[in-house]
Amino acid sequence: MGTAKTDVAKRVRRALTRMASRQALGSEVSDQTTPDELARAARSYLGSAQIVIASNREPYMHVKAPSGIEVVRSPGGLASALDSVARATGATWIAQGAADADRLVVDEEGKVRVPPGNERYTLKRLWIEPEARELEYRRFCNGCLWPLCHIVYVRPHFVAAQWRAYQEVNEQFAEAILAAIGSKPGLVLLQDYHLGLCASVLRARRPDLSIIMFWHIPWPNREVFRTFPWRRELLEGLLACDLVGFHIQYHANNFLDTVAQELEAQIDHERFAIRRRGRKTFVRTYPISPDAAEISLAASEPWAARAADQIREQLGLGGVKIVLGVDRLDYTKGIPERMVAYKHLLETRPELRGQVSFIQIGVPSRVDLPEYQSLAATVEELAVRLNQRFGTAERPAIHLITRNLGFRDLIPYYVLADVAVVSALHDGMNLVAKEYVAAKVHLDGALVLSPFTGAARELDQAIQASPYDTEALAAAIGRALTMDPAERARRMRSMREVVAGQNIYDWARKILRDARRLHLVPGAPRPGASSR
Ligand code: UDP
Repeated sequence: MGTAKTDVAKRVRRALTRMASRQALGSEVSDQTTPDELARAARSYLGSAQIVIASNREPYMHVKAPSGIEVVRSPGGLASALDSVARATGATWIAQGAADADRLVVDEEGKVRVPPGNERYTLKRLWIEPEARELEYRRFCNGCLWPLCHIVYVRPHFVAAQWRAYQEVNEQFAEAILAAIGSKPGLVLLQDYHLGLCASVLRARRPDLSIIMFWHIPWPNREVFRTFPWRRELLEGLLACDLVGFHIQYHANNFLDTVAQELEAQIDHERFAIRRRGRKTFVRTYPISPDAAEISLAASEPWAARAADQIREQLGLGGVKIVLGVDRLDYTKGIPERMVAYKHLLETRPELRGQVSFIQIGVPSRVDLPEYQSLAATVEELAVRLNQRFGTAERPAIHLITRNLGFRDLIPYYVLADVAVVSALHDGMNLVAKEYVAAKVHLDGALVLSPFTGAARELDQAIQASPYDTEALAAAIGRALTMDPAERARRMRSMREVVAGQNIYDWARKILRDARRLHLVPGAPRPGASSR
């Protein structure tokens, strides 16, 4: 009874917050999917099908703390949306157990019910052998597939032992998925490039399963893909799925192109499907987005403005204009490129010196890989040189913040920034670009955006400039800094109209809706199943 009351109170609170966030988006708002609506949609689309979600990262981690074991929710919108689907459908979620107390709370099969205190679904943790396999597997994902798919002149490492580790871990995931489904009909939602081979194993053992894969990073063009020694196996893995999702059409097109080059398959360009060995794989795009309403609400609250003022004071920024970069320290993000462009701007437009400050948030990432260590060193060095040349003790030309900020800590930086620079060399989407737009409730910011981000397709009112062209990028930052406020507001309003209708729950709902439309929901009769 008590729990039911708390649930109702929580739901009411959430509904009120959502109403306020919709108001914060102002006239741009269009209907957004709420977690409850996603849950209802999931129940109605998926009925009683057995749902299994698989991802490398777990939605909840158990960590040791002085007061005992604490539960930490995986950050990010994607985890929240899939959590809503899992709760609504009573799914099993399979992921690597990685936190230090993860083993202490599971049963003998590695299972624990989550969310804590309101258990709605099962999280099954996989224990990947420490050292060699975990390391090799991570190295394959981050040192091979990542640079291969992003094409940024970082050479992928093709190491057979790492490929084998990738195969083994994918098999381990597949075994766990099969065990979770048992003999029932099931729908499997695979997340991302860590699990590219899983579906091959699943399909061989259970031809009747429905399998959906979302590939969150770019898909390379056929010339680059040709260099990958295990390209056929990876393609077979994806074609064992019924539906493969990408963020943008360009990557979906690349995928069809590589299939056409590497395998004997019939490509149906009209229906966007691939037919091979009597089976059909649909290819679709679902651009991901942060929760724009939630960000707008946070950015419009008084605490955010106060926090922005505090940052201005703490960093001694005075009244100067602020240029912002927010990224993981990853070589795909074009961070050195943007710093060099900023240097070029200050060199060529001396009137801006002392009138502008650059804040770069660079979250350390994949620090065990040499490419990432070298990037972090380059960024540090460039910051030092910029400050030596253009900064003073009281007013550095650039502030480099190398730690991870939580949602509430990040918002004030978006509020503060006159210009955000997203200069990725290649990015599946880039959520930061959309987050900045969502946070600019007063339309008082300009976005400089690389055309090589997925977001550039939707945010066409950003000032687009190639990170490979220093002068063009410098000019774009300069233009953004001095743009007429009316034009700046017009562009920002237009971009806000784009993001307003989006959030991660809507993204998940569209995929599930397509699963039903394409007759992928198990248990339901499948027209044309015999020809698959
Ligand atoms: N982010 C964060 N704290 C930070 C910096 C970034 O939480 O200190 C978040 C940011 O809000 C965004 C995500 O990290 O949601 C980065 O997503 P994006 O798609 O831009 O790049 P990715 O890191 O996924 O390649």
